[in-house]
Amino acid sequence: MCGIVGGVAERNLAQVLVEGLKRLEYRGYDSAGLALVHSGLIIRERQVGKVAMLDAAVQKTHPLGHLGIAHTRWATHGKPSEENAHPHVSGPIAVVHNGIIENYQSLKDELIGQGFEFHSQTDTEVVAHLMYRAYQQTPDLLTAAQAVIPLLHGAYALGIVHADKDNELIAVRAGSPLVIGLGIGENFIGSDQLALLPVTNRFIYLEEKDVVRLTRDSVEIFADGQPVRREAHEIDASVSNA
Ligand code: GLU
Repeated sequence: MCGIVGGVAERNLAQVLVEGLKRLEYRGYDSAGLALVHSGLIIRERQVGKVAMLDAAVQKTHPLGHLGIAHTRWATHGKPSEENAHPHVSGPIAVVHNGIIENYQSLKDELIGQGFEFHSQTDTEVVAHLMYRAYQQTPDLLTAAQAVIPLLHGAYALGIVHADKDNELIAVRAGSPLVIGLGIGENFIGSDQLALLPVTNRFIYLEEKDVVRLTRDSVEIFADGQPVRREAHEIDASVSNA
Protein backbone atom coordinates (compact mmCIF):
# COMPACT_ATOMS: atom_id res chain seq x y z
CA MET A 1 0.00 0.00 0.00
CA CYS A 2 1.54 3.26 -1.05
CA GLY A 3 0.95 6.79 0.14
CA ILE A 4 -0.43 10.10 -1.04
CA VAL A 5 0.13 13.58 0.32
CA GLY A 6 -1.04 16.84 -1.24
CA GLY A 7 -1.83 20.39 -0.34
CA VAL A 8 -2.84 23.88 -1.40
CA ALA A 9 -1.40 26.73 0.67
CA GLU A 10 0.23 30.16 0.78
CA ARG A 11 3.59 28.68 1.70
CA ASN A 12 5.94 26.67 -0.40
CA LEU A 13 4.93 23.04 -0.04
CA ALA A 14 7.98 21.03 -1.16
CA GLN A 15 9.22 20.25 2.36
CA VAL A 16 5.71 19.69 3.75
CA LEU A 17 5.11 17.07 1.04
CA VAL A 18 8.46 15.34 1.61
CA GLU A 19 7.88 15.27 5.38
CA GLY A 20 4.41 13.83 4.76
CA LEU A 21 5.87 11.07 2.58
CA LYS A 22 8.43 10.22 5.29
CA ARG A 23 5.55 9.74 7.69
CA LEU A 24 3.96 7.28 5.23
CA GLU A 25 7.12 5.21 4.74
CA TYR A 26 5.87 2.57 7.19
CA ARG A 27 3.29 1.55 4.57
CA GLY A 28 6.03 0.24 2.25
CA TYR A 29 7.04 1.57 -1.19
CA ASP A 30 9.65 1.29 -3.95
CA SER A 31 9.84 4.83 -5.33
CA ALA A 32 8.69 8.34 -4.53
CA GLY A 33 7.82 11.53 -6.35
CA LEU A 34 6.13 14.88 -6.19
CA ALA A 35 4.73 17.54 -8.50
CA LEU A 36 4.42 21.23 -7.66
CA VAL A 37 2.45 23.80 -9.63
CA HIS A 38 4.42 26.98 -10.20
CA SER A 39 3.95 29.79 -12.75
CA GLY A 40 1.73 27.70 -15.00
CA LEU A 41 4.11 24.73 -14.98
CA ILE A 42 4.16 21.31 -13.38
CA ILE A 43 7.55 20.84 -11.68
CA ARG A 44 8.13 17.13 -11.14
CA GLU A 45 10.76 15.24 -9.15
CA ARG A 46 10.82 11.43 -8.99
CA GLN A 47 13.27 8.92 -7.52
CA VAL A 48 13.51 5.14 -7.25
CA GLY A 49 14.30 4.11 -3.68
CA LYS A 50 13.92 5.95 -0.43
CA VAL A 51 12.10 9.19 0.28
CA ALA A 52 15.50 10.39 1.55
CA MET A 53 16.68 10.38 -2.07
CA LEU A 54 13.68 12.44 -3.15
CA ASP A 55 14.42 14.75 -0.23
CA ALA A 56 18.06 15.13 -1.38
CA ALA A 57 16.90 15.92 -4.92
CA VAL A 58 14.43 18.51 -3.62
CA GLN A 59 17.16 20.07 -1.42
CA LYS A 60 19.26 20.48 -4.55
CA THR A 61 16.65 21.89 -6.93
CA HIS A 62 14.46 23.77 -4.40
CA PRO A 63 11.24 23.49 -6.42
CA LEU A 64 8.65 26.16 -5.59
CA GLY A 65 4.90 25.74 -5.47
CA HIS A 66 1.91 26.52 -3.27
CA LEU A 67 0.01 23.57 -4.71
CA GLY A 68 1.39 20.06 -4.91
CA ILE A 69 0.87 16.31 -4.83
CA ALA A 70 3.31 13.64 -3.68
CA HIS A 71 3.41 9.86 -3.71
CA THR A 72 5.18 6.77 -2.49
CA ARG A 73 4.64 3.95 -4.97
CA TRP A 74 4.27 0.24 -4.45
CA ALA A 75 4.38 -1.00 -8.03
CA THR A 76 1.47 -3.09 -9.23
CA HIS A 77 1.77 -2.38 -12.99
CA GLY A 78 5.28 -1.83 -14.36
CA LYS A 79 8.60 -2.23 -12.57
CA PRO A 80 9.90 0.23 -9.99
CA SER A 81 11.56 2.89 -12.17
CA GLU A 82 11.65 6.65 -12.52
CA GLU A 83 9.31 6.69 -15.52
CA ASN A 84 6.79 4.53 -13.63
CA ALA A 85 7.00 6.61 -10.45
CA HIS A 86 4.15 9.02 -9.76
CA PRO A 87 3.03 11.74 -10.37
CA HIS A 88 2.01 10.96 -13.94
CA VAL A 89 1.25 13.82 -16.30
CA SER A 90 -0.83 14.42 -19.39
CA GLY A 91 -0.54 17.91 -20.87
CA PRO A 92 -1.04 20.35 -17.97
CA ILE A 93 -2.49 17.72 -15.60
CA ALA A 94 -0.63 15.70 -12.95
CA VAL A 95 -2.04 12.74 -11.04
CA VAL A 96 -1.02 10.57 -8.08
CA HIS A 97 -2.83 7.29 -7.58
CA ASN A 98 -2.98 4.67 -4.87
CA GLY A 99 -4.54 1.36 -5.89
CA ILE A 100 -5.29 -0.44 -9.13
CA ILE A 101 -7.30 0.49 -12.24
CA GLU A 102 -8.51 -2.96 -13.25
CA ASN A 103 -9.75 -1.99 -16.72
CA TYR A 104 -6.66 0.07 -17.58
CA GLN A 105 -5.71 -2.02 -20.63
CA SER A 106 -8.96 -1.39 -22.54
CA LEU A 107 -8.81 2.32 -21.57
CA LYS A 108 -5.17 2.45 -22.70
CA ASP A 109 -6.00 0.84 -26.06
CA GLU A 110 -8.79 3.38 -26.58
CA LEU A 111 -6.53 6.32 -25.64
CA ILE A 112 -3.70 5.11 -27.90
CA GLY A 113 -6.27 4.88 -30.71
CA GLN A 114 -7.08 8.54 -30.05
CA GLY A 115 -3.42 9.55 -30.29
CA PHE A 116 -2.40 9.69 -26.61
CA GLU A 117 1.21 8.67 -25.96
CA PHE A 118 2.18 6.60 -22.95
CA HIS A 119 5.49 7.07 -21.15
CA SER A 120 5.06 4.46 -18.41
CA GLN A 121 3.86 0.89 -17.95
CA THR A 122 1.51 1.90 -15.12
CA ASP A 123 -2.25 1.62 -14.93
CA THR A 124 -2.22 5.14 -13.47
CA GLU A 125 -1.19 6.94 -16.64
CA VAL A 126 -4.62 6.23 -18.17
CA VAL A 127 -6.15 8.40 -15.42
CA ALA A 128 -3.89 11.34 -16.35
CA HIS A 129 -4.84 11.04 -20.04
CA LEU A 130 -8.55 10.55 -19.29
CA MET A 131 -8.46 13.67 -17.10
CA TYR A 132 -6.80 15.68 -19.88
CA ARG A 133 -9.30 14.40 -22.45
CA ALA A 134 -12.25 15.26 -20.20
CA TYR A 135 -10.75 18.66 -19.31
CA GLN A 136 -10.42 19.55 -23.00
CA GLN A 137 -14.16 18.92 -23.36
CA THR A 138 -15.15 20.73 -20.13
CA PRO A 139 -12.37 22.96 -18.79
CA ASP A 140 -13.24 22.48 -15.12
CA LEU A 141 -11.14 20.10 -13.05
CA LEU A 142 -13.96 18.90 -10.79
CA THR A 143 -16.33 18.28 -13.71
CA ALA A 144 -13.56 16.45 -15.56
CA ALA A 145 -12.90 14.21 -12.53
CA GLN A 146 -16.62 13.50 -12.18
CA ALA A 147 -16.71 12.49 -15.84
CA VAL A 148 -13.65 10.21 -15.53
CA ILE A 149 -14.59 8.36 -12.31
CA PRO A 150 -17.41 6.26 -13.85
CA LEU A 151 -14.89 5.02 -16.46
CA LEU A 152 -12.54 3.59 -13.81
CA HIS A 153 -13.01 0.08 -12.37
CA GLY A 154 -10.97 -0.87 -9.35
CA ALA A 155 -9.80 0.57 -6.07
CA TYR A 156 -8.19 3.97 -6.03
CA ALA A 157 -7.41 7.17 -4.25
CA LEU A 158 -6.41 10.08 -6.47
CA GLY A 159 -4.84 13.52 -6.16
CA ILE A 160 -5.12 15.71 -9.27
CA VAL A 161 -3.75 19.17 -10.15
CA HIS A 162 -3.66 21.40 -13.24
CA ALA A 163 -0.73 23.67 -14.13
CA ASP A 164 -3.00 26.70 -14.67
CA LYS A 165 -5.06 26.22 -11.47
CA ASP A 166 -2.72 27.03 -8.63
CA ASN A 167 -5.50 27.19 -6.03
CA GLU A 168 -7.27 23.93 -6.77
CA LEU A 169 -6.62 20.33 -5.75
CA ILE A 170 -9.03 17.51 -6.64
CA ALA A 171 -9.10 14.35 -4.54
CA VAL A 172 -11.05 11.13 -4.93
CA ARG A 173 -11.50 8.25 -2.50
CA ALA A 174 -12.79 5.01 -4.01
CA GLY A 175 -11.53 1.90 -2.27
CA SER A 176 -8.21 3.29 -1.04
CA PRO A 177 -7.95 5.46 2.08
CA LEU A 178 -7.73 9.27 1.95
CA VAL A 179 -8.29 11.96 4.59
CA ILE A 180 -8.60 15.72 4.36
CA GLY A 181 -6.47 17.88 6.67
CA LEU A 182 -7.97 21.28 7.45
CA GLY A 183 -5.57 24.16 8.01
CA ILE A 184 -5.95 27.93 8.29
CA GLY A 185 -5.65 29.35 4.79
CA GLU A 186 -4.38 25.96 3.62
CA ASN A 187 -5.81 22.48 3.13
CA PHE A 188 -4.30 19.05 2.61
CA ILE A 189 -4.92 15.46 1.58
CA GLY A 190 -3.17 12.38 2.96
CA SER A 191 -3.45 8.61 2.92
CA ASP A 192 -3.69 8.86 6.70
CA GLN A 193 -3.73 11.61 9.29
CA LEU A 194 -0.23 10.72 10.51
CA ALA A 195 1.18 12.22 7.30
CA LEU A 196 -0.50 15.55 8.03
CA LEU A 197 0.07 15.95 11.77
CA PRO A 198 2.93 18.44 11.26
CA VAL A 199 0.46 20.81 9.56
CA THR A 200 -2.91 20.22 11.24
CA ASN A 201 -4.87 18.25 13.83
CA ARG A 202 -8.28 18.76 12.18
CA PHE A 203 -9.45 16.10 9.78
CA ILE A 204 -12.36 15.03 7.63
CA TYR A 205 -12.59 11.29 7.02
CA LEU A 206 -13.95 10.81 3.52
CA GLU A 207 -16.54 8.23 2.62
CA GLU A 208 -16.35 5.87 -0.32
CA LYS A 209 -16.71 7.58 -3.72
CA ASP A 210 -16.34 11.08 -2.28
CA VAL A 211 -14.88 13.62 -4.70
CA VAL A 212 -13.32 16.73 -3.16
CA ARG A 213 -12.30 20.16 -4.42
CA LEU A 214 -9.83 21.86 -2.10
CA THR A 215 -8.66 25.44 -2.31
CA ARG A 216 -6.68 27.39 0.30
CA ASP A 217 -9.94 28.55 1.92
CA SER A 218 -12.50 25.89 1.08
CA VAL A 219 -13.16 22.17 1.03
CA GLU A 220 -16.16 21.07 -1.05
CA ILE A 221 -17.16 17.41 -0.94
CA PHE A 222 -19.43 15.75 -3.50
CA ALA A 223 -21.17 12.37 -3.42
CA ASP A 224 -23.00 11.23 -6.56
CA GLY A 225 -22.41 14.70 -7.99
CA GLN A 226 -24.20 16.44 -5.11
CA PRO A 227 -22.50 18.58 -2.43
CA VAL A 228 -22.44 16.84 0.96
CA ARG A 229 -21.30 17.80 4.46
CA ARG A 230 -18.82 15.67 6.36
CA GLU A 231 -17.99 16.33 9.97
CA ALA A 232 -14.53 17.66 10.93
CA HIS A 233 -12.73 15.91 13.80
CA GLU A 234 -10.11 17.50 15.99
CA ILE A 235 -7.62 15.01 17.35
CA ASP A 236 -5.06 15.08 20.14
CA ALA A 237 -1.88 15.19 18.04
CA SER A 238 0.41 13.91 20.81
CA VAL A 239 -1.72 10.79 21.37
CA SER A 240 -2.05 10.16 17.63
CA ASN A 241 1.68 10.60 17.03
CA ALA A 242 2.44 8.08 19.76
N1 GLU B 1 -1.08 0.83 -9.63
C1 GLU B 1 -0.24 1.99 -9.54
C2 GLU B 1 1.15 1.71 -10.06
O1 GLU B 1 1.52 0.58 -10.26
C3 GLU B 1 -0.19 2.54 -8.12
C4 GLU B 1 0.41 1.58 -7.14
C5 GLU B 1 0.39 2.14 -5.73
O2 GLU B 1 -0.68 2.11 -5.09
O3 GLU B 1 1.46 2.61 -5.31
O4 GLU B 1 1.89 2.60 -10.31
